This record gives sequence, C-alpha cells and structure tokens, in this order.
Amino acid sequence: MDNQFPVKYIEPLFRPPSEGRSLIFQVTNGCSWNRCTYCDMYTDPQKKFHPRDEADVLDEIRKCGEAGVKVRRVFLADGDAMVLSMRRLRVILEAIQTHLPDVRRVSVYCLPKNLKNKSIDELRELKVLGLTLLYIGAESGDDTVLKYIDKGETYRSTADALIKAHDAGLKTSVMILNGIGGRAFSKQHSLESARLLNETQPNYVAMLVLTFYRGQQKVIDGYGGNFIELNATELCEEMRSFIGATELESSIFRSDHASNHLVLKGVLGKDKQDLLQQIDQAIDHFRQHPEFERGEYGF
Ligand code: SF4
Repeated sequence: MDNQFPVKYIEPLFRPPSEGRSLIFQVTNGCSWNRCTYCDMYTDPQKKFHPRDEADVLDEIRKCGEAGVKVRRVFLADGDAMVLSMRRLRVILEAIQTHLPDVRRVSVYCLPKNLKNKSIDELRELKVLGLTLLYIGAESGDDTVLKYIDKGETYRSTADALIKAHDAGLKTSVMILNGIGGRAFSKQHSLESARLLNETQPNYVAMLVLTFYRGQQKVIDGYGGNFIELNATELCEEMRSFIGATELESSIFRSDHASNHLVLKGVLGKDKQDLLQQIDQAIDHFRQHPEFERGEYGF
C-alpha cells in the first residue's frame, strides 16, 4: 500500500498528538495567520499559506476509498483548515462521508478568527456532515500576553469562538502554552487562562510547554526584550496556579506532549486535587534536583 498511498503532503506536516492514528488530508498548506512569535511550524518557503487544490484533495479522498482504506478518524491539516469557505468544507466533508463511510470523527485545527464569518447554523451543518472536534490554540487567556506574542486574538475573541462552537454542538480541545508569558506575566497568564476555560468549559484541555526549536529571538523581541524563560520549577508553579484556578465540570486534561516536563492526565474538576498533588511532588523534586532535564520526569 505504501508505494501507492494516494495522499500527498507538503512537509513538514503537523497534527495534535491525539491524532496519531488518524488519516490526514492536507486541505490547506501552512497557516493563514503565521505571525505568532513562538511558532516555527510553517516558516519554510514551501509552507507559504494556500488552500490546496480542491480537485486534488477530493481525488485523494476518493482514491483512499477505492484503495479500501479503513479509518474511523480523519484530521484535516494544516494550521487552520477551518479558514476554508463553507462551500469548500462542505464538499470535503461530503467526499469523506461518501468514500470513507467508516469515519466517525473529523477534526481540524481552528483559529478563533476562522469562526467569525461562520454562523452557528453553518457550523451545525458542518457537524451534520461529520465535523466533530476543533483544536483551538488559545495559548493564553491574558490579553497582554496575547498581544506580545502577536496571536491576533483576545480573551473575548477566543471565548466567543469556543462558545459558538459549543452552541453548534462541536467539541473543542484548547491548548494553553505553559511559560508563554515568561517570568513577568506568568501569574496573570495562568489565572486568565483558567478564567477563559472556566467561562467556556471546553471538552479537552492540553497544556504544552513553550519550546524553541529555532531560537527565541522573535519571542524576546515581541516582549520588547523583557522575556525571561521559565525554568522547570517555575513551569510547574505556573501549571499549579492555572489548575488551581480552574473551575471545570468535565474537561479532559492532558499535559503529555513531548514538550512537557511533567506528564499529567485527568478530568477537571474530578481529579483536580490529585493533579495538584502530583504537581507539588514535581516541584519538590525539581527543587531538589535542579539539573533535571526536560521530559525525563514522570510518575
Ligand atoms: S496560529 Fe497556530 S500555526 Fe499559525 S502561527 Fe500561530 S501558532 Fe503557528
């Protein structure tokens, strides 16, 4: 099957960790925003944003069906496939329903601004066509942090998008970026991010650690030179402050990305005290072993 695999990708290709077993169709290339100071995902010249040719995408979906590909999950890449028009999203989802009838979940990265021009009824229609889950990289609920990292969103724009998605019956998975406020804004970042989630009650919450693959100069410049990266203990303290301030009913929480120092999984609020206890243990450990390396710590 490998030699004839009918789906083509413009590399690099990114997906959420939980989409590891999904069939990925790259319906857009790159990210329509592509300005966040901490993000290097789509900076290569071949990743300049454009919707992929519609006929090619539909052809790939059809060929997967003809090749007998059996999958239950599909992820639509790249960085914000929800930027596509309703018409395009409709034909892509209809093609998946026609040619891959076993698919039960279609998910996609989504920027809050992607939902601005889509009504709740339109989102409901996409849900009927199979769209299930939106991954929304809120990164922070704090407006100062969002401005300094050039996220192009605010607390309000993110909250409104999440509420709209929920009103349409779509599930949401929200990413918060541990450390993105640096030392100066750590506290307000943690508290405002918790407030954002409390107001919107997403289905899933993922906390990733700010990681610099190609240097942190853009982030430092964004903060006007005043950015101090958090160490492992400070990252855990920020996470503690964040989780401590959450008032969630039943959001599945994960901090199990490759970037995380401390792997945590649970349901907030049911497991809140347990998660806080694990974080306290980690903080004690890091204080005693300041040399401890990223990703080597787990319970
Ligand atoms: S919106 Fe997402 S993919 Fe686009 S630049 Fe920001 S972090 Fe990167």
